[in-house]
Amino acid sequence: MNEELQGDQKLNKLRLAELAEKQAQLAAIVNSSDDIIVSKTLEGIITSWNPTAERVFGYQEREAVGRHISIIIPPDRLAEEDYIISQIRNGKKIDHFETVRIGKDGKTVQLSITVSPVIDESGKIIGASKIARDISAQVTSQNAARKYTERLEIMNMVMSSISEELDLNKILQKVTDATTNLTGARFGAFFYNKIDEEGESYMLYTLSGAPRDAFDKFGMPRNTAVFHPTFSGERVVRVDDITKDPRYGQNSPHFGMPKGHLPVVSYLAVPVISRSGKVIGGLFFGHPDHGRFTEEHEILVTSIAAQAAISLDNAKLLEEVMALNDKKDEFIGLASHELKTPLASINGYLQILGRRIAGTEHQLFLDKALHQVSRLTTLVNDLLDISKIEAGKLKLRIDAFDLKKIIEEAIELIQQSVSAHTITFKSNVEQCLVNGDAQRVEQVVINLLSNAIKYSPLANRVEVELRREAEKVVVSVKDFGPGIPKDKLKSIFTRFYRVDEAAPNISGLGIGLYLANEIIIRHSGEIWSESEVGKGSTFYFTIPVNIT
Ligand code: ADP
Repeated sequence: MNEELQGDQKLNKLRLAELAEKQAQLAAIVNSSDDIIVSKTLEGIITSWNPTAERVFGYQEREAVGRHISIIIPPDRLAEEDYIISQIRNGKKIDHFETVRIGKDGKTVQLSITVSPVIDESGKIIGASKIARDISAQVTSQNAARKYTERLEIMNMVMSSISEELDLNKILQKVTDATTNLTGARFGAFFYNKIDEEGESYMLYTLSGAPRDAFDKFGMPRNTAVFHPTFSGERVVRVDDITKDPRYGQNSPHFGMPKGHLPVVSYLAVPVISRSGKVIGGLFFGHPDHGRFTEEHEILVTSIAAQAAISLDNAKLLEEVMALNDKKDEFIGLASHELKTPLASINGYLQILGRRIAGTEHQLFLDKALHQVSRLTTLVNDLLDISKIEAGKLKLRIDAFDLKKIIEEAIELIQQSVSAHTITFKSNVEQCLVNGDAQRVEQVVINLLSNAIKYSPLANRVEVELRREAEKVVVSVKDFGPGIPKDKLKSIFTRFYRVDEAAPNISGLGIGLYLANEIIIRHSGEIWSESEVGKGSTFYFTIPVNIT
């Protein structure tokens, strides 16, 4: 019996030693783990706290053990603990739960935690063990990557939106708004040097984050020590506190910011330089707090400024082209006006001469001269009409007239000077009264007829038709010439447009159809062309009929 007892005691001792060894091993693992390993009771009282927990949270083991786990839970996340404990009570494990905890110094730590129930020998759940990994660095880099992507997206958006824009003021405003937003500046401004028509330079500016009257009273920035590097295009200026900068406050009369100026402490200014290397402006940002602008902001604004410079150059080029275009219109107007008077005199003198030499051998030359004068008069009149349209001064004299009669007269006029072509006319009505400017509509018909003949030199007929429908009249002029390619059918109605390859030897200015279109539009009608290359073209126009 005794021997038996002694044997049992030996065995127990052995087991205890084994157990102690295992516990020591476990403790060593827990102590040397890089993960936070903490256990607590079901009431949330901390029962163990490893060295990594000490390092991450700043509480020593003796400070933490015995206290409630809520010492490391941010107040707005206390409910999480109730949830965790309820899961544990039900014997459930929580895996890789990402959350935030606070250390002794109040700093937040991003954690990924796994919580498992602790079960005693009888199978009862007596607490929870928590293994947590500090993922602050990972979260920070994820956040940085997200922020970076967001910024890239915003930048792309800004870049593409300003590259599409050709309106100077809109570009300036978009760039100011976007860069102010991206830098987190309280206010931003874009000062842009503009040269007016007389070559005088002046400044335009746009603001973001501040009303215009906050700046208007100060006038434009002068070339002070602070502004100089920007307006000379030397470099970017980024200062945490501009009021402490040696360049600040050196110039009279204000010696610093003028009274009432928006408060600027953090300051960032980026020159905007055109492709030609000329400084065309500067972007300025301010914030009332210290040290708000970073190197990243500087890089962002510099890239947008480079894109803005390109768009501003384009807008400037467009303005120049438009100004030249206006000048050209002005010249056409003046020139045609000047040509009209001598032409009228030549015509008058030729008529007088005509009466004197009527019936003589010279009559033929005179007729030819008169014909050329009439061609020239039509051209000059067309050019004058163009400038009237551009100036919005093309007036119509509206009256009721018989469109059928007008077409017949136009055909007669053209047929007189044409021998190779026969012009036929078909109408579904005896008379066709419409409201409009008879002379202008006749001008359209003459133009379509002249083109039909001019552009079908190898054909021998032109067919004209008038069709009175319920609410409109449709007039068509059909020729049997080489036709017009489909992709050009719309363009031929624009100013100065000619289909070169179709008629390389036929002269013209490309204004007849433009005028025809403008006239028909003013009659609330429509004009278009249908054509098949090699077969000919048909030009149509409609004029609405007012049924009273
Ligand atoms: P212009 O005849 O003085 O060039 P228009 O404005 O009358 O100017 O016509 C514009 C262009 O349309 C012409 O240059 C010509 O290429 C094309 N076009 C006009 N009418 C015809 C037609 N009947 N057949 C083929 N091409 C035509």
